[in-house]
Amino acid sequence: MELVESLAEALARASTILPEEVVQALRKARDEEEGPARVQLEAILKNVEMAKAGKLPICQDTGTPTFFVRFGVDFPKLEELLEAIPEAVRRATKAVPLRPNTVHPFSGKNPGDNTGRFVPAVTWEPVPGKDVEIHILPKGGGSENCCALKMLAPGVGLRGVKEAVVEHVVSCGGLPCPPTIVGVGIGGGADLAMKLGKLALLRPLGARHPEPEVAALEKELEELINASGVGPMGLGGKTTVLAVHVEYAHRHPASLPLGIVIQCWAHRRATVRIASDGSITVSQ
Ligand code: SF4
Repeated sequence: MELVESLAEALARASTILPEEVVQALRKARDEEEGPARVQLEAILKNVEMAKAGKLPICQDTGTPTFFVRFGVDFPKLEELLEAIPEAVRRATKAVPLRPNTVHPFSGKNPGDNTGRFVPAVTWEPVPGKDVEIHILPKGGGSENCCALKMLAPGVGLRGVKEAVVEHVVSCGGLPCPPTIVGVGIGGGADLAMKLGKLALLRPLGARHPEPEVAALEKELEELINASGVGPMGLGGKTTVLAVHVEYAHRHPASLPLGIVIQCWAHRRATVRIASDGSITVSQ
């Protein structure tokens, strides 16, 4: 498969098929809920099944196609990849079809193909070697609207971080279409904290951070947020988040940036890998 075709195929898959581990987490939540919360999760699961069977978008908001590229510094086709990403977005927009979701912030004009100035958003991370790994995350507007940056006073410590995350997620109620997945970025600067929160979403759902202290924080945040009772679509229940993933970076002594990135239940993802022999695989 050529590069553009593989990327377009991956974006189409991400938009129409929810990763299996997300479906499993939604099923588990459904089994544990009752009343309106259970009804909501039943409807979500039915919708996911119908989208997969009909190759249709999982949600009417097909999101902003967002790419995270880890590229080997010796990968020989970087220029081709630069051009392939926006072209794949144009192709998938027509083929699926995806809702044209990019508008000019001043004029409101929509190019109609999900591209525009700095869009698709691509984060490039050089790594040793020749291989490339591209994560695609179509990010819905409703959940993106609930993302927040808090510049905390360092003195509040980890306790202040926990309070700020829980307070913010609970204050969003049903707006980000819960049950959500929350990516928390701690440290770095203002921009890096938000980026870390988004990068944390790329981990398979519920896969804990390798450092036990961070993994324990993820579990504690899940329990605290789920104890709030916001529940599926904000209608009350046990499951407000499916998972919380935390990433961190060293920070300036005077700053404690906290990035809170909320992803809706439609946690759409796909990955394209290009091996050093040129072979391409698409997975979810
Ligand atoms: S937040 Fe997610 S589930 Fe809700 S409308 Fe947007 S894309 Fe769809």
